[in-house]
Amino acid sequence: GIVLGIETSCDDTGCAIVDSNGKILGEALNSQQQIHLNHGGIIPPIARDLHKQHIEHVVHDALRIASIELSDVDAIATTVKPGLPLSLVVGMNYGKHLSRTSGKPLIPVHHMEAHALTIRMVQKVDFPFLVLLISGGHCLLAVVQAVDKFLLLGQSLDDAPGEAFDKAARRLKLRNLPEFRTLSGGRAIELAASKSTDPQAFEFPMVMAQYRDCNFSMAGIKNCVRRHILQQEKLHGVEGDELIPDVFNLCAGIQMAVTRHLCQRLQRGMEFVTLQNLLPRDNKTLVLSGGVACNTFIKRAMGLVCQHMGYSLAVPPPHLCTDNGIMIAWNGIERLCADIGITHDLDSVDIDSKCPLGEDWTDKVAKAS
Ligand code: ATP
Ligand code: FE
Repeated sequence: GIVLGIETSCDDTGCAIVDSNGKILGEALNSQQQIHLNHGGIIPPIARDLHKQHIEHVVHDALRIASIELSDVDAIATTVKPGLPLSLVVGMNYGKHLSRTSGKPLIPVHHMEAHALTIRMVQKVDFPFLVLLISGGHCLLAVVQAVDKFLLLGQSLDDAPGEAFDKAARRLKLRNLPEFRTLSGGRAIELAASKSTDPQAFEFPMVMAQYRDCNFSMAGIKNCVRRHILQQEKLHGVEGDELIPDVFNLCAGIQMAVTRHLCQRLQRGMEFVTLQNLLPRDNKTLVLSGGVACNTFIKRAMGLVCQHMGYSLAVPPPHLCTDNGIMIAWNGIERLCADIGITHDLDSVDIDSKCPLGEDWTDKVAKAS
């Protein structure tokens, strides 16, 4: 089979055509990142207008690169949940339009499910497996039992790690350094941390380590970042566009604090998995994905946790961890093969901006000893 996938849930207009062997026949992506960086955050109506402006040529580019016609695809997959409502609508409506004009069925896709399954396009990973999704809007740990069967073990009670990095990078004014201007907040923090001479210069608390559940929280780290910045600004009389002198060390501290927290919560989740026998004893895989999974430091730390807990670690290449049309097309392939959620009834398809992933097991984890 061949599926055309469309992604517009946030600030990337993406389209790709993928076949059932996982071959990418064509791909196009228009990122709005630079525009939103200049605004200091995503402004939904602007995101919508840019999606509207770019969706048509992005889809056409993907088809042209693949040298196929719309009539050659077997289905059209499009992200309908979760995400920014104004952004989601653009992709969904364009997907419906393509489905209507071509007569091909529509496959509505859950953006986080797509992040979780992307790895299967590039590497053999069988169900069930454990997935940790760390991105700009989410932080969630789940057991993936089938294409559409997820057990949600834990999630962030407040900010997502990508969001925490983005806010910290903004507050630290990293973009005032030329080398950092075009980078996402997360990438900027990673680069700054790599320039640190004393990663332990700033202290951070261990968050939630005493809790038996495996939810996540960035609030404690965020407050601590704010305190350190205010203290440094006062100490060094920093004003206006100036950066604090110790900015690289602070970034290393932030990256370390987030990483430690993710690792600690992940390990807690893995203990629950063992206790409940949710994965085969001799074949346990952790899949890491979402934009923050591009981070080399975090990947290395996760590798150590996996080694310690008897898991193998699988991470898609960076361009498949951030948002793209490929993962949506691949999700369409997965659903086509499993014959799940393929429809001709376009009126029954709608967006859902806040849609949890899978069955909520977070309470079960909290109660297990
Ligand atoms: P969601 O998938 O939750 O809806 P999203 O689609 O906006 O959110 P992604 O595109 O998956 O998120 O990821 C973007 C996030 O990844 C941003 O917050 C960005 O700062 C972060 N990020 C990108 N590269 C890195 C990196 N090298 N280190 C840390 N974070 C990174
Ligand atoms: Fe995403």
